[in-house]
Amino acid sequence: MKSAAFPFATERLPERAAVIDLEAIRHNVRHLANLAAPAQLMAVVKADAYGHGVLPVARAALEAGADWLGVAHISEALALRAGAIDVPMLAWLHTTDSHFRAAIAADIDLGCSGWELPFIVAAAQQQRKTARIHLKFDSGLGRNGSTPAEWAGFVARARQAELAGSVTVVGVFSHLAVADEPSRVETDEQIAAFTTAVAQAREAGLHPMLRHLANSAGVLTRADTHFDLVRAGLAIYGLSPFGDRTSTDLGLRPAMTLRTLVSVCKDVPAEQGVSYGLNYRTTAPTTLALIPLGYADGIPRVATGGPVRIGGVTYRVVGHIAMDQMVIDLGVAALVASGASVIGTEAVLFGPGDDGEASVDEWAAAAGTINYEVVTRISPRVPRVYRNV
Ligand SMILES: *Cc1c(COP(=O)(O)O)cnc(C)c1O
Repeated sequence: MKSAAFPFATERLPERAAVIDLEAIRHNVRHLANLAAPAQLMAVVKADAYGHGVLPVARAALEAGADWLGVAHISEALALRAGAIDVPMLAWLHTTDSHFRAAIAADIDLGCSGWELPFIVAAAQQQRKTARIHLKFDSGLGRNGSTPAEWAGFVARARQAELAGSVTVVGVFSHLAVADEPSRVETDEQIAAFTTAVAQAREAGLHPMLRHLANSAGVLTRADTHFDLVRAGLAIYGLSPFGDRTSTDLGLRPAMTLRTLVSVCKDVPAEQGVSYGLNYRTTAPTTLALIPLGYADGIPRVATGGPVRIGGVTYRVVGHIAMDQMVIDLGVAALVASGASVIGTEAVLFGPGDDGEASVDEWAAAAGTINYEVVTRISPRVPRVYRNV
């Protein structure tokens, strides 16, 4: 077997690596910014940029024209500020223990669903600053955000706080529930409810400059969700939020390649059991290869059948995935005896697809989950390596 013609193969990489192509990030951001224009683009970089590494991704996204950065936690926004990133930033998921004072001091905009308002006002007053807030409206997702019933009271209180100089209401926002299925009517209902909520905020005397509703799916398929600002996460990493459209269909380039080297390769007889539980048994003499990645690296344990590409051929994981390793059946008898061991050959779990390697979506299907979860869960044990910095 010859070595894979993988583009990074000749460079010195850690023995296991998530290789992040920052030019792919820049390409995706430019593409999304064009689709969103004249609306501004917020690059969502929560959860360590969906596992891609927050600082390099944030810098690449800003180079390519992102106007804003979005994160869930204040601590994530503070980490960006600590990385000397001084662009507008929004953090939207808080608890009563969130560090509102630090956020306001660092000029981080805060999402506010209702209960946070007195906490934010107190934190602003303590340091004689005006907090910048975006009021969150629950237009149907049933998670964060003020309910329609609470909204009139909430915008009135926000207006009071604004008149008192404690806050500026910069935006009103909401989050879509089913935009990954573009034909569903609930998105139309969410747009209508959101539009009504914005009108109510204006009637209450607020002047939200930024109305924002769209996630990646909204940016890609529904211009009527774009308003003044879009919040794109998954698509900036080059992945598709749709079950029936690939990255290529959408003009996106997957940024992460997950690769390692074959650790062990050995010939075994028929009836060889493989991995804990011995759920897989070889049916004929064959060759097994051991891939040194497992669930501690973030590969879901249930993803038996997931694809691994070696030497231009895609093989499938057999037996249970273990903490550190997984096994593939090369399906070729006496390979090792013939001197064709693949020990040390590059094994690619997923990548952009240029070289025939599998997509993140194939791993998501093997694990019964979505591509978001596969990349986000690649663990800190796997070094991130950046290309096209
Ligand atoms: C995560 C998140 C996004 C980004 O969603 P994608 O589907 O990854 O584009 C946008 N807005 C909010 C509030 C989020 O939590």
